[in-house]
Amino acid sequence: MALIVQKYGGTSVGSVEKIEAVADKIGRFRDAGDDIVVVVSAMSGETNRLTSMAQEIMAYPTPREMDVLLSTGEQVTIALLSMALEKRGYAACSFTGGQVKILTCETHNKARIREIDGSNIHAQLDLGKVVVVAGFQGVDENGNITTLGRGGSDTTAVAIAAALKADECQIYTDVKGVYTTDPRVVDDARLLSSITFEEMLELASLGTKVLQIRAVEFAGKYKVPLRVLSSFEDGPGTLISLEENTDMEDPTIAGIAFERDEAKLTVAGVPDVPGVAYEVIGPVSAAGIEVDVIVQNAAADGTNDITFTVKRSESERAKEILDKVRESLGAREVVMDKKVGKVSLVGVGMRSHAGIAAKMFKVLSDESINIQIITTSEIKISVVIEEKYLELAVRALHSEFELGESEPQS
Ligand code: ADP
Ligand code: ASP
Ligand code: MG
Repeated sequence: MALIVQKYGGTSVGSVEKIEAVADKIGRFRDAGDDIVVVVSAMSGETNRLTSMAQEIMAYPTPREMDVLLSTGEQVTIALLSMALEKRGYAACSFTGGQVKILTCETHNKARIREIDGSNIHAQLDLGKVVVVAGFQGVDENGNITTLGRGGSDTTAVAIAAALKADECQIYTDVKGVYTTDPRVVDDARLLSSITFEEMLELASLGTKVLQIRAVEFAGKYKVPLRVLSSFEDGPGTLISLEENTDMEDPTIAGIAFERDEAKLTVAGVPDVPGVAYEVIGPVSAAGIEVDVIVQNAAADGTNDITFTVKRSESERAKEILDKVRESLGAREVVMDKKVGKVSLVGVGMRSHAGIAAKMFKVLSDESINIQIITTSEIKISVVIEEKYLELAVRALHSEFELGESEPQS
């Protein structure tokens, strides 16, 4: 008998019929004798619907109240799924994050899990119940409801699996597993039977939303066996392997990640003296805005330009901050481009293969796509380009690097 934590995403619980289908699926695991803890997301579209209602009231709603609002989405699905299980004769018990006691830090909207008390869950499992937990939410030390950032139910599931020392954490979603790139953008994307944890971490951090990055971090830290599978079709899905892949024939590139909805900000004509990068980036980070790719170019006249990217939704706030910084530094101007995106090639095999970057640049050049910023690490190359060319770039790279289903694999 195994203890399995299963997470069902928004599309998988997007209607009452789908919730009933999830209950059937869970029932089959119970019949096989497994103990099941289920983590569910809100119904698809619900978190967005709640967010837009808040934004009708104010552009930047109070973070604490946003969390009170958004956490309701998951509270609906835990109750409905528990009812559907009960109807089928499977004893079930729902828990909000606070009821489990998923303790987080106090940072509303992007809280980090600190500790999970497994005792309430264990008590219900011991009574033979399926435990259904609301994803994406927790409580801080003062009992305030917090949420874990978009896609956070993945992290709830992995963190619970770690706390309970579950045999496996299964992330059920609306595609068959992790593909070489988003199968909605590239028809020919190939389903991966496994991917190294390191590659998955990189893909998630570069915009592949099939798993939230924190979920992958937790899986690595606590060695949680993690698998991504389809809610709708049977199949083995993709195993996130904790073993370093030693297969010499492993493809150089595991996948292509991309991120839409980015914005690029440049502070131009900054005096070229020590400390200016800190003076530009510091206040932006201090405002809780995540700064992504950063480059600095020195000009011959003793000034430099500092450019970085942020999420488009945070760009106006970043611009306001930079306008003030510009004045105090005596910089020339602040320029914003709200229509950029980022494409990244990821693969541990890149460590031992030269020429990947050159080939990537050639593919983009052949498509007449201008590269605005380049950043690299040992296992990834990212470029920032005009957003309208993002999908074209992904398709061209996927095809030129022969990642597709129809390509012969080494
Ligand atoms: P859920 O609601 O189940 O959490 P998400 O929408 O968060 O689902 O994540 C699943 C989606 O991730 C898929 O529908 C797919 O479009 C997208 N996706 C992006 N990149 C990939 C990839 N490399 N492999 C699989 N899915 C991907
Ligand atoms: N409902 C939340 C979201 O849409 C959390 C999740 O689905 O993982 O982001
Ligand atoms: Mg998700």
